[in-house]
Amino acid sequence: MGYAASLRQSLRWRGQRVWRRTRAPRRYEPVPETAISLNAPKPREAVQRMAPYSPPTGGRAGKLRLDFNENTVGCSPRVIEYLKEKLSVGELAIYPEYLDTRRELAEFFRVATTELLLTNGTDEAIQVLVNTYVDDDDHVVVLRPSYAMYRFYAEVAGASVQEIDYRRDDLSFPLEELLDAIQPSTRAVAIANPNNPTGTGTTLAGIERILKKAANAAVLIDEAYFEFSGVTALKLIETTPNLFVSRTFSKVYGMAAMRFGCLFSQSANIAWLHKAQSPYSVNTLAAIAARAAIRDREYVENFVREVLAARELVYVGFRKLGIRYYPSQANFVLFEAGERAIPIRDELRNRGVLVRDRSYEIRGCVRVTIGTRQQMERFLTELERLW
Ligand code: PMP
Repeated sequence: MGYAASLRQSLRWRGQRVWRRTRAPRRYEPVPETAISLNAPKPREAVQRMAPYSPPTGGRAGKLRLDFNENTVGCSPRVIEYLKEKLSVGELAIYPEYLDTRRELAEFFRVATTELLLTNGTDEAIQVLVNTYVDDDDHVVVLRPSYAMYRFYAEVAGASVQEIDYRRDDLSFPLEELLDAIQPSTRAVAIANPNNPTGTGTTLAGIERILKKAANAAVLIDEAYFEFSGVTALKLIETTPNLFVSRTFSKVYGMAAMRFGCLFSQSANIAWLHKAQSPYSVNTLAAIAARAAIRDREYVENFVREVLAARELVYVGFRKLGIRYYPSQANFVLFEAGERAIPIRDELRNRGVLVRDRSYEIRGCVRVTIGTRQQMERFLTELERLW
């Protein structure tokens, strides 16, 4: 081909790409200018269709953090001590090894070492589960409102996501509606128990009915707040091949920065998940820290006890101010601020107290994380001044 002909062909080809690149973003979500430049590759349609998810990620240090359901006093001091003891220049040079962590965690959770997957937070557990079981256009059922990452990863995979609403009046678990939505073709169901942000939960009997109906699906029960509710489906993995249970070290264990979690299921399932997981996604520090965290049971038990007492205090404070709230099984409570949800959040922030606006998904609602009684007294004092 001569130079002129090849130039013509190349221009035609580029022209076509320009057309496709400039058209697609208009049909879907707006994307940054850089993504529609001539040289940028075009994302998959599933990604173009997604709404951006951007939780606030800065400016939280030094404030009373009642916005992310973390442990408000931090992890056990023994975790830091153990990290210092174990870390060395040499250790950081070596790719992570998980044998000890896996063995100690399996013992702690009373499962076989083959029944658990160590993950980079629950988020990676959800991602690996979706990557293992969900294809383009597959039917995935989640609840609304709930933890955003179920829908997020299912959408990245190109799944067809159906959302079932929590019951409007009391935000209770919509068991019958969920059972109705599950089809023989459903590939995955994701449930937070207790749920974030409603704080409401479902019973083991309810979970068993879901597992039965969703026989062809991978059913994830995300127990990020288990320590506060005491309800767990973990034992059911022995007899239920479609059950996956996740736990996190980001909440009661106070290790959100470490990004560490576990996913439990029958050994054969864990073997599949393992194939779809990056081999070193959990870093060495997290793997070491988790071992120390589970050894300090007393620390976790004390914090849970404190949070449960503080939650009662908050309920009393809400009632005193005439604020409607939704009784919670977790370390956070949703309350109604009506039209003032966003101003209340902003005013509290100005006074050094962070809470999370949820009014975009439950009208007028704000979510407050429960910390110690002392912390919650401060929250209530500031709220009372504004109310
Ligand atoms: N699951 C639920 C229900 C949550 O609310 C959250 C945090 N907001 C997570 C999981 C996140 O867990 P991780 O930090 O382990 O990814």
